[in-house]
Amino acid sequence: MTEIRNQLFINGHWTEARSSLRSALFNPATGERITTVPSGGREDARAAVEAAYAAFPAWSQTAAEERSVCLRRIYDLIVANADRLAEIMTLEQGKPVKEAKGEVLWGADFFLWYSEEAKRIYGEVIPSSRTTQRILVQRQPIGVVAAITPWNFPSSMITRKLAPALAAGCTAVLKPAPETPLSAIALFDIFQQAGLPAGVVNLVTGNALEIGQEFLENEKVRKISFTGSTAVGKYLLEQSAKQVKKVSLELGGHAPFIVFPDADLDAAAEGLLYNKFQNNGQTCICANRVFVHASVQETFTAKFLEKVKQVTVGNGMNDVNVGPLIHERALAKVDNHVKDAVAKGAKVMAGGFRLMDGEYAQGCYYAPTVLTDVTADMDIFREETFGPVAPFIPFRTEDEVIRMANDTPYGLAAYFYTTDLATTMRVSDRLEYGMIGINESALGYVQAPFGGIKQSGMGREGGRHGVDDFLEYKYLNVNF
Ligand code: ADP
Repeated sequence: MTEIRNQLFINGHWTEARSSLRSALFNPATGERITTVPSGGREDARAAVEAAYAAFPAWSQTAAEERSVCLRRIYDLIVANADRLAEIMTLEQGKPVKEAKGEVLWGADFFLWYSEEAKRIYGEVIPSSRTTQRILVQRQPIGVVAAITPWNFPSSMITRKLAPALAAGCTAVLKPAPETPLSAIALFDIFQQAGLPAGVVNLVTGNALEIGQEFLENEKVRKISFTGSTAVGKYLLEQSAKQVKKVSLELGGHAPFIVFPDADLDAAAEGLLYNKFQNNGQTCICANRVFVHASVQETFTAKFLEKVKQVTVGNGMNDVNVGPLIHERALAKVDNHVKDAVAKGAKVMAGGFRLMDGEYAQGCYYAPTVLTDVTADMDIFREETFGPVAPFIPFRTEDEVIRMANDTPYGLAAYFYTTDLATTMRVSDRLEYGMIGINESALGYVQAPFGGIKQSGMGREGGRHGVDDFLEYKYLNVNF
């Protein structure tokens, strides 16, 4: 394994935290200490914001073509380093290295896509009220962006924010998750190699509260882009009101996965397997409630169980389907949800316990789990589990399943399988979600607007819509 750099990156330089403090990082697969990373704090965050602010005038004025070339270089470098980046990710996050490489390459695609979109940030000419007048609308970068990212997708959540921000002409400061700083550091190494001017992107690892506070209170930060828990997202939104900062939030989800009686059951079972066990169920868009029509429940459950039996769990450095959970807290939540459901009458069809023997002893491993007879009084029906548990709930009518599916404050992703066109259109209209997979259980496409409604967030990432969040309109009333 090549050496991992582990410092802050501020104004084009690698540096220690002002406090000189560092904190230890552990491998969730083995419990082993990997390395230490700087514990940056408020002053480091301030220095990073200053650097981004100083770099903004020049970067925002570069020709779009020039920014495009830079972004394209970053894409090429990520692709060239994909194997190394994937190993780093597996080491700190736990997902299987093949899956990690998939994430790295998908993350790189945001740089490819936005390297093109940088050239298409068009304005408007609006018909004026006089012949000696022109009404023009320009789109300008909002300014310094503070990006805060989670540990479940340590690389692509960064690229999904930074690629459109840079394409728009913004400069940025990133605070990655404390669990996965090395993937961020490795990306910043690439940004440096790609020749981004000093200060355009800055990285501060460390104390979330302090760094977050600086982002919120520093008037030079004009935009906060956050992916993480609903609780922290609400706090950032509330605090951002003081300076009317622009905020984008990608928060929690509680995705329904509906299998209608006319569905292709094999495709639905395959789709659910991928969706539920990708990243060990630690994704905000993974199925949290599987609604299966009573008439196909037995057949579908049998098909799904057959597939779950084949899922292998272990250290992601090996050839396995599923790695460990990120930490003990995550594991405890999964275990509590399962225990609560079982106590209230759910049946365990697969798994239902922590894996403890042999190589599992030191890590946070949980057996792929399927529960049936899940009901609305169970915690798992109401809360995001963020783990490898598929809770099955039977339904009889379309109205009933729509009511249950929408019965949550979240509105991120939903899925349904049917071969009937009328069902497809009706159910798409009625589901209160920002993204809907129909006979499809993957939603992360770089060209599509990823994001939720209700308490799942605001703003969109990806595609043409993703760049909008980093731009403001400026209307010029020109008279001559
Ligand atoms: P999780 O519980 O899944 O780790 P969080 O919302 O706590 O989700 O974390 C997502 C990101 O938000 C991480 O980078 C974390 O360090 C950061 N974070 C947590 N609390 C704050 C805060 N008060 N201010 C700014 N960032 C925060």
